[in-house]
Amino acid sequence: MDLSAIPIVDQHAHNLLRPEHARTFAYPSAFTEGYAAEVVTHHVRETIFFRRSMREIAALLGCEPTLESILETRERLGFEEVARRCFAAAGFQAILLDDGFMPDQVMPTAWHNRFAPVYRLLRVEFVAERRIAEAPTWSAFEEAFRADLEALDPEVVGYKTIIAYRTGLAVEPPDSEAAQAAFRALRQQAERGERLRLAHKPLNDWVVWRTLEAAARRGLPIQFHTGFGDPDLDLRWANPLHLRPLLEHPDFRRVPFVLLHASYPYTREAGYLAAVYPHVYVDLGLAIPFLSRAGMAFAVRAFLELTPISKILFSTDAHLIPELFYLGARWGRRILGDVLEATVADGDLTAAEAEAAAEAILCRNAQTLYALPDR
Ligand SMILES: [Zn+2]
Repeated sequence: MDLSAIPIVDQHAHNLLRPEHARTFAYPSAFTEGYAAEVVTHHVRETIFFRRSMREIAALLGCEPTLESILETRERLGFEEVARRCFAAAGFQAILLDDGFMPDQVMPTAWHNRFAPVYRLLRVEFVAERRIAEAPTWSAFEEAFRADLEALDPEVVGYKTIIAYRTGLAVEPPDSEAAQAAFRALRQQAERGERLRLAHKPLNDWVVWRTLEAAARRGLPIQFHTGFGDPDLDLRWANPLHLRPLLEHPDFRRVPFVLLHASYPYTREAGYLAAVYPHVYVDLGLAIPFLSRAGMAFAVRAFLELTPISKILFSTDAHLIPELFYLGARWGRRILGDVLEATVADGDLTAAEAEAAAEAILCRNAQTLYALPDR
């Protein structure tokens, strides 16, 4: 199936790196979640994702499929032109940006509007870290953070949490005393002028719990990073099955939970949750385009085994370089086309149902979930 006519709602991605930072950034590191020097300088080049991507980026930029030639051509074309080509080839109807990733080194969110209408996801750990750095007391912090969750800019369409990276998905009900003790420890760091990193379980759990309460009041979705990611996370605690107490909690029954990254390798687990809980959604980002072709097809197939089509969302999880937006969109359409074609051959769906499924997954489901304007 050729899905090139379907515009994509990229329901989770990140801002591009500013050109002055891009110059000092090791290009291969955009192709791996690892950050150890040997991974970036050596091992990443041995991955299928890197090798396949070099060929595809070279074809888009019109150069030789080698890293050297690509870097040279990027330099010659310039940042804006490379970005323009990637986004034009990707074909987005809308992009939802989590702009809390490397916030001091990326382009402003509004700048990305030149490629497609951009909406924001509020990364709550980033908001909390900023507030802890300024708030002298717990009550000042609590008040400021609650206000941040409520007084949202009109372009914010959902919340995003990276608790999987920090302290894991087994979120417990808030323990105010333990959270305050963690707050005091972070305040001491702030007073010493150290950079804050919110990775104290009682306080991280408190932050997510307050966010879920705000999401319930406002009827907004919350995106959870789940499954694989950089080695900051303990993959055992990134299994979405740990979310069960939150999913079962009566106060959060109306909050849409969006499980990012196909929860890879816990993809079937995520698909199961979306099949049995009315308020759980799954997303294909990062699994597409980071995996091999067979791996990407696995993720789409694993969801379609059980998950309602209306619960499957698409994103690129692109970050830092525009090529990842292009690769994500390209492979999203291709893999979905391949897998849906097979479901028709199997007699699982009719051709018309497969067409409708492609449009739902690439665009309509996210449009409905985030109440985005129609095209
Ligand atoms: Zn992300």
